[in-house]
Amino acid sequence: MLRSLRLLLATALVFPFAGCETIGNLNLYSDDELEPLSAQAYAEVATEYTEIKSGAQYEMVRRVAQKIAAASEENFAWEVKLLKADDTPNAFCLPNGRIAVYTGILPLTQNENGLAAVLGHEVAHAVLRHGGKRMTQGLLTNVAATAIDAGLGIAEMSEDTRGVVMGVIGAGAQYGVLLPYSREHESEADILGIRYAIRAGYDPNEAPKLWERMAELGSGTPEWMSTHPHPLARAEKLREVIPQIIEEEKNWQPK
Ligand SMILES: [Zn+2]
Repeated sequence: MLRSLRLLLATALVFPFAGCETIGNLNLYSDDELEPLSAQAYAEVATEYTEIKSGAQYEMVRRVAQKIAAASEENFAWEVKLLKADDTPNAFCLPNGRIAVYTGILPLTQNENGLAAVLGHEVAHAVLRHGGKRMTQGLLTNVAATAIDAGLGIAEMSEDTRGVVMGVIGAGAQYGVLLPYSREHESEADILGIRYAIRAGYDPNEAPKLWERMAELGSGTPEWMSTHPHPLARAEKLREVIPQIIEEEKNWQPK
């Protein structure tokens, strides 16, 4: 039943509802079902780049990722990788907590508060199960949905299918499959990401500054600055809500 419903959603039939909030929040994929795809996509990305495993940048990425993960209070088996890709201003968190940061984002984040803003946002996508929700939303092709339901591993999929699946769960950039999250998912990840940064002891006011730096960069669309809404509009909105979020989180205590 679940399988046929998912295949139905993968077809054009769902399109009349694709923008609707109910569909946007429906998730027909469990964490366990996404686990092999997440693990394989992570391994696949790691074969494309040199992994940096020591040094000041690595220590910083690990430290920020650990604090943000703890602040999320999500019981994932968290992993983090720093990948050497100076021309890629990007980062992602796959379903079940597999984080990757490309070196190309560090000149933009500039400091730990900036990195916390990016990782807060990415971790929020994973905690909110946006990967499974996107898979449910009919963003997969029928071929990709069938391959997943047949239990096919990422390595066994054709290159096109693999690109689509990796794009939907958030690691498609290097496959040229950049699938922006919906406006609704982006806003949710922005707000929750700010909460995580505050709980982890970072200055949330760096987030809007980061968006402004990103707007200056212009070209290139890393996941966390997908084209909607515009980065400057996003910065403005965050500046409005940050004081209230600080107030709401000031008594937060880890469980
Ligand atoms: Zn995002």
